[in-house]
Amino acid sequence: MKFIKVMLSARLCTAFFACFFLLVFEAECENKIQVGGIFHPDNYETELAFRYAIKRVNQYSRHDGSKTIIEPIIRRVDPKDSFKAGKIACEMTSEGVAAIFGPQSVETKGIVESICEAMEIPHIQNTWIPNPPPVDRLPKMAVKFYPNQQNLSSALAALVTDYDWKTYTVLYEDDYGLVRLQEIFKKHGPKDPPISVYQLEPKKDNRPLLKKIQLSGEIHIILDCEAENILDYLRQAHEVKLLGNYQMGNAPFQTYILTSLDAHTVDLEELNSSESNITSFRMVDPNRYEFKAVINDWIQGEQRQGRNADYNETKVQLESVLMVDAVNHFGIALHALMKTEDMTPQSISCSDPSFWGGGLSLVNFLKGKPYPGLTGRVEFNETGERNRFNLDVVELHKGIYYKIGSWDTHNGFAYTRSREHLKTILFEKLRNKTFIVSSKIGEPFLKYREAADGEVLEGNDRYEGYSMDLIAGIAELLNISFRFELTPDGKYGAYNPDTKRWDGLVGQLLERKADFAICDLTITYERKRAVDFTMPFMTLGISILFTKATKEPPDLFSFLQPFSLDVWIYMATAYLGVSILLFILARMAPKEWQNPQPGTKDPSELENIWNLKNCFWLSLGSIMTAGCDLLPKATSTRMVAGMWWFFTLIMISSYTANLAAFLTNEQMDKPIKGAEDLVKQNRIKYGTLQGGSTYNFFKNSNLSTYSRMFSVMESTRPSVFVDSNTKGIERVLKGKRLYAYFMESTSIEFYTGKTCELTKIGGELDTKGYGIAMPVNSPMRTYINDAILKMQERGKLMELKKKWWVDLNGGGECDEDDKGGDDGAAELGIDNVGGVFVVLGFGCFIALILGVCEFLWNVRQVAVEDKISMGEAFKTELLFAANVWKTEKPITKNSGSTRSSRSPSGERAPSQARSMINAATSFMRLDKIF
Ligand code: GLU
Repeated sequence: MKFIKVMLSARLCTAFFACFFLLVFEAECENKIQVGGIFHPDNYETELAFRYAIKRVNQYSRHDGSKTIIEPIIRRVDPKDSFKAGKIACEMTSEGVAAIFGPQSVETKGIVESICEAMEIPHIQNTWIPNPPPVDRLPKMAVKFYPNQQNLSSALAALVTDYDWKTYTVLYEDDYGLVRLQEIFKKHGPKDPPISVYQLEPKKDNRPLLKKIQLSGEIHIILDCEAENILDYLRQAHEVKLLGNYQMGNAPFQTYILTSLDAHTVDLEELNSSESNITSFRMVDPNRYEFKAVINDWIQGEQRQGRNADYNETKVQLESVLMVDAVNHFGIALHALMKTEDMTPQSISCSDPSFWGGGLSLVNFLKGKPYPGLTGRVEFNETGERNRFNLDVVELHKGIYYKIGSWDTHNGFAYTRSREHLKTILFEKLRNKTFIVSSKIGEPFLKYREAADGEVLEGNDRYEGYSMDLIAGIAELLNISFRFELTPDGKYGAYNPDTKRWDGLVGQLLERKADFAICDLTITYERKRAVDFTMPFMTLGISILFTKATKEPPDLFSFLQPFSLDVWIYMATAYLGVSILLFILARMAPKEWQNPQPGTKDPSELENIWNLKNCFWLSLGSIMTAGCDLLPKATSTRMVAGMWWFFTLIMISSYTANLAAFLTNEQMDKPIKGAEDLVKQNRIKYGTLQGGSTYNFFKNSNLSTYSRMFSVMESTRPSVFVDSNTKGIERVLKGKRLYAYFMESTSIEFYTGKTCELTKIGGELDTKGYGIAMPVNSPMRTYINDAILKMQERGKLMELKKKWWVDLNGGGECDEDDKGGDDGAAELGIDNVGGVFVVLGFGCFIALILGVCEFLWNVRQVAVEDKISMGEAFKTELLFAANVWKTEKPITKNSGSTRSSRSPSGERAPSQARSMINAATSFMRLDKIF
């Protein structure tokens, strides 16, 4: 029994020793290559990743039948203790290591890097460490798996540019943050709007600072901090309403850019209710199969060993993944080099430094051979920097990060999200949102609605106008709701360089008190730099508003107007002169002395018919184009008459031609025809709306006419600038055509349609448009543009314009008036030609007086000759004249004066010829009397 026991123990011993020797032999056959790993106590996850990665590499080696095994020497050091870090590094080199991984802190990394440089041992880094200031010699043994700081910073700057952020606030935690953001700062030029930079205190109450930022209305925030502090800062931001829930409840969302490449590992589910956009970069894609497989294998391994692995593929930190990539890449390099050279590290003491020959080969292999890692393609430049890499751009939505695009060092951004997808996400967020639309009162864009009896108007019902209808149309297309709010100062929006603030509607947008601003708000370059505009919904230009020329009441003697008074006087003088000349010449010309009785051959005397009266009669007959029964016979008199006829021909033609124009067109006082006429005079003052786009047009114009006009406007006292268009119009109306107002053509069109007294003078000085303004980068801009375009294509914009400019504005009454006035072929009224009737009446009256005088004279003569009383003679003559049936009248033989027969049977009347001769003779007698 004892023997059996001894035999059994001997066999067990043999088996044990056999096993032991086998193991020792096996172990001795493996070529162990030591590598150092220096970690900080708070980098436990990275340390685990290091261990796991080495184990994995060794597994692969064994699986491939390789005898090269990597053996880790792991030490921990305080992140601030550079002395100890150096000591550990020396211990490692004296033990013989093929590479040192870590440490991660800036303070400890430097000394380890120097030791590795001196001994030519590869120094493999997996953390973001700012580049040291340039030294004479670039490190040749450092291989940095963390993306190059410069490129990373460029990616952030490109994102800011891509988002078109003009103003933003940078929140950073430590000074290294400023280094990380250097490319963003570099892109911000001195002429750009100011940006704010604040330092946050980790694990402290930063709410006062965040509140201040919230009150400033800032919506673009770059948050640079450790991933572990992100949640704390965002929580505080949420508390002070800097994360989605706003004072007004309606301002646009804040957008955060988180610079940490580990931001996606932070659980932000508790901030789900926030409407803010949170964007960040990540280097790993947690949905990639290879990545998931490796991380799960690692986690399961840890759990099998009873370690607490409370991370998964979405939570694992970038530094840990980089460590896995670094060890894998190192393993590949080592195995590859082992095939050709001995890569067994040497023991090198810090007190007696020498270098290891294999180190440089390893580093060159790592730098020279790109490797497809879990963090994408691993590739280095000659200084060991990872300068080619790819980043995912991710956006948080309901607690989950979605990839919206990617960025790489060569191609920049490429977005993967479709527009429709973006729209769906956005409108889902906006479902319950009421947009605030800031506006100002100004017809026809917005005015107070008149309440019906007993009606109480509230909310949007208080207003009506083009702007209201336009927004209602857009809201209907986009299925959103809105509320109109009037801007408190009633201004459009001008920048005050002293306060560095915008007023009016633009100010409302910048202070996040409104989502949109709409009215007759002109799109200008200056405003476009502060806020965003949609495409123009109306186009216009600057023109002049003035009052129409007053219609002069037609003059009674307007038929005199074709000639000036001077011409009339000259004509009268010419008439007198020519008549007298004719008289003189006729007296001198023998041919004008004629036989008074053509029947007698030798007349005892000759007669000249050209007494003064006949001369005047001839001249008058010609000028009246009536002709005359007396005509000159002598050459000289004919010459005078001919010249006079020629003169009258021209004068009467000119008079007739001008008369029509004078009688039909009322005299219009048109002192200006355009801006050029205004600048040439100083009687009519002109002005604009203070601080509006028209004001700025003149202020900033390089054209000499307009800049001169602005100087004139500025120097005019009292000021020609007004606070509102209404005041400008008032001033034009009251100005008695001594004030012209530069206004936008759309408003001129409206007001000239409403008040017929007003008119537009000249053409337009420029071309521009009205747009709906909104805060910069408003996600709504694209969709509002789409809605405007749709309304335009469907003719809705035209309809709205007609509704507010014509139908509800007098229906174009003033235009009708204008048309009537313009028509040159208008009928002449009695007012136009009344004077001619007056002259006729006056002439007839004089003729009547003369007729009465002639009659009385004849009565007197008859009374003398017939020796009867004046009364009897008067009665007889009157009765004869009244007897219209009697056409013949007897004459007295002696005197030749006409006499009515006193008895019904009286003498016979002379023949017609005889009575004519008698009439002529008596006429000549009358001449003598004259
Ligand atoms: N529409 C102009 C603006 O947006 C105001 C009117 C004007 O300047 O004539 O500033």
